[in-house]
Amino acid sequence: MKRRIFIQKTAFASILPLIPKNTFSNPASSFKPISIASGNGLQATAKAMEIILKGGDALDAVVAGVNIVENDPNDNSVGYGGLPNYEGVVELDSSVMHGATHRAGAVAALQNIKNPASVAKMVLERTDHVLIVGEGALKFARMHGFKEENLLTEESRKEWVKWREMMSKEDDYLPPHSIDELDLGANTKEALKTYGTINCLGLDLAGNISGVTTTSGLSYKIPGRVGDSPIIGAGLYVDNEVGAAGSTGRGEANLLDCSSFMIVEFMRQGLSPTDACLEACKRIATHTKEKRLLTKDGKPNFNVSFYAINKKGGYGSAAIYEGIKYAVNDGKESRLETAVGYFKR
Ligand code: ASP
Repeated sequence: MKRRIFIQKTAFASILPLIPKNTFSNPASSFKPISIASGNGLQATAKAMEIILKGGDALDAVVAGVNIVENDPNDNSVGYGGLPNYEGVVELDSSVMHGATHRAGAVAALQNIKNPASVAKMVLERTDHVLIVGEGALKFARMHGFKEENLLTEESRKEWVKWREMMSKEDDYLPPHSIDELDLGANTKEALKTYGTINCLGLDLAGNISGVTTTSGLSYKIPGRVGDSPIIGAGLYVDNEVGAAGSTGRGEANLLDCSSFMIVEFMRQGLSPTDACLEACKRIATHTKEKRLLTKDGKPNFNVSFYAINKKGGYGSAAIYEGIKYAVNDGKESRLETAVGYFKR
């Protein structure tokens, strides 16, 4: 019995690479290519579209797109230069999903590898798993030749030190000060935690949809904390017949509602990408009950943004609070558009 399963698996695995690209879509249809991303994705969507227009697969396109941002030391929310965890160690989360084959791969709490999106893609392509975390993810990345390096840039290290020193006046870490100063470290406003991520979605010329989300997660998080980005259904979801959705912002809120899956399901029922994203914002607002997470008038005191595309090349974005920009490329130059806000500021 076991042997038969093995043979079936092996036979299928050996056939897969022989299936020509584009087999999964209707060759007679003409699809309107689109790539969208969070606001830090102008270059990513441009790269993704360049690959899509050359006939490339949407997953190759979006991963190549976000690799640019992962490699950028000046984006301190993703990859190299990402803000570290509580102990000053950069830990990265990423997921990818390939609509044509309905497969996904993800890594979480991955250290020392600056392109977690590519490692997630390798999980999809070269394992029978969907999610690998921590030390296991690092070993897997090493096995496939990913180079290990220190991801903490000087700028991110200094930000972390500032946060640590400003966090409390009760502990023994002191910010730069003169001998006359009292209440050292009490300025918690300067010690804010920040979110930041890139989500990028693409529809290719063959009508296939893929997506990727990659992040250093919540800054100064508890080591080992995993956000929504690497969780299929929360930070990313793709259904090749319907569309794709992804998110950035407070991952904890998104994890409690599996919003990306929800958005795709709303699109399946006929909602536009923007309206589907708004429904997810509404759901989070309704489900946020803890007083510490609410403003005086009962709204969430954090933001979450959603991005979605559908099979027809339609796209949209909504955030709990207005003012969020997102990147769009429909075949020419990448541009920023404004997400619809569920609440005004
Ligand atoms: N959603 C990410 C997380 O919670 C962070 C972000 O998008 O800003 O890890």
